[in-house]
Amino acid sequence: MTVQIQKLKMLVAGEWRESSSGSFSSIVDPSNNQVIAEVPKASREDAEAAVESARHAFDSPEWRDMDPSKRGRILIKLTGLVRENSEELARLETLNEGKLLRESKGDVAWAARTFEYFAGLADKIEGETIPVPPKRLNYTLREPLGVTVHIVPWNYPIALASRSMAPALAAGNTIVVKPSETTPLTALKLGELATKAGVPKGVVNVVTGSGAEVGSELVSNPDVDGIIFTGSAETGKQVMQAAARNVTHVLLELGGKNPHIVFPDADLSKAVRSVKDGIFTNAGQMCWAGSRAFIHESIYNNFVNELVAKTKVMRLGPGIEETTEMGPVVSKARQETVLGYIKDGVAEGAKLLYGGKRPSDPKLQQGNFVEPTIFEDVTGEMKVGCDEIFGPVLSITKFQTVEEVVSMANETDYGLYGGLWTSNLKTAHDVASKLQVGVVAINEYLVTFPQTPFGGFKESGIGFEQGIRSLQYYTRTKNVSVNLA
Ligand code: NAD
Repeated sequence: MTVQIQKLKMLVAGEWRESSSGSFSSIVDPSNNQVIAEVPKASREDAEAAVESARHAFDSPEWRDMDPSKRGRILIKLTGLVRENSEELARLETLNEGKLLRESKGDVAWAARTFEYFAGLADKIEGETIPVPPKRLNYTLREPLGVTVHIVPWNYPIALASRSMAPALAAGNTIVVKPSETTPLTALKLGELATKAGVPKGVVNVVTGSGAEVGSELVSNPDVDGIIFTGSAETGKQVMQAAARNVTHVLLELGGKNPHIVFPDADLSKAVRSVKDGIFTNAGQMCWAGSRAFIHESIYNNFVNELVAKTKVMRLGPGIEETTEMGPVVSKARQETVLGYIKDGVAEGAKLLYGGKRPSDPKLQQGNFVEPTIFEDVTGEMKVGCDEIFGPVLSITKFQTVEEVVSMANETDYGLYGGLWTSNLKTAHDVASKLQVGVVAINEYLVTFPQTPFGGFKESGIGFEQGIRSLQYYTRTKNVSVNLA
């Protein structure tokens, strides 16, 4: 299909601008590496201007002091606009990130639900009165933090931008969004829709630029009050160090190496499908990918045979084509990284059951495709067993007892997500309580809602997104004591 290459602008201070240097970056379709758009390559100065714009918008009280019900209505309008534009947003996401069109449609629907959920909470952010010794009134105020910076990765561009934009705006903050340099298209569109919905000038800024220049300026800027960073653990640590210099609030949503455990009393046909989808959805490029499967020894052979059989027949292709079951990885660099990990796995003695290469189909040679890949006999010491590969690579390990599998599942620096399959309630709750992860799914996988908390333990992050309590991060608490004597 032909795509018209558009030269886009970014949103700063309510205006659509080019970068101060006038330079652009090319955005490509990972299924064929053809350029689909040009976006401004923002500079450090552009990042400073975006923070200044958000600061100015926060200090002029139109947004911060707006009747919160009205703020909620603006977010409801934004929800409606996201829904009205869902076809275009989903196509943009698929062309830019490579995921299946139906996955993009799900992400856009999730983004709309997130704006809707937090719109409803805008006028429910309440302080409290606190009993103290007599002749006094003591109460707390929940104020917006101020200027918040939202650094977004490339694997769920619209869902993750919306996940932090919605609560930040509901609470009355003014924001600067920096999408990934690889996938900025839907965030720019969200900026346009927020403006259309009636968000005042300067409240939402979207700057397109690199992490090294624009991202690092945003997280080091002393005029920023809160950072919401979603990305790799390595970058997250740098962000936290930069934030420490100005004592800026920081919320970190980082990587994972997630266990997906199958007990023999599970619904095995559902479990096979879930283990497969838990790693090959979005070509495995998911913080919550079930990249380590632990299968009980009594069902091991049949389970693994069926899993491999189902994986072998997966159709690879561009995400935009209806019949495709797995798309490309996002970039040539990612393709090289993933293939490098597969080589390491073989060298370290893991047994390659399926995949492991670029597909041979001549139609896929221009894109960044990697075959869905399955290893068995993987240990926690191997790179494939402990590093976040962020690609379609599954490691399988056999287990015998609950104690053994819990110990292996927790043998990682990460602690984001975990899944388990069993029909025994006692096993389910027992294992859920013992897994060192922030979110557990029982008898399903890849499930989260705008109203349920999502965040990681250990090196998977600090704090959590989603749910009513996430608003705590986007507000600051002030205590007021009044002497009535
Ligand atoms: P990344 O860390 O390379 O980049 C993330 C973002 O940070 C990008 O916008 C990038 O430009 C920016 N950035 C890079 N260097 C920076 C710096 N020094 N200062 C400020 N910003 C900087 O991650 P990625 O490759 O885009 O995304 C993949 C990672 O994201 C994986 O580790 C994945 O697990 C994680 N992730 C986590 C969640 C979650 O909710 N926990 C969700 C999705 C992805």
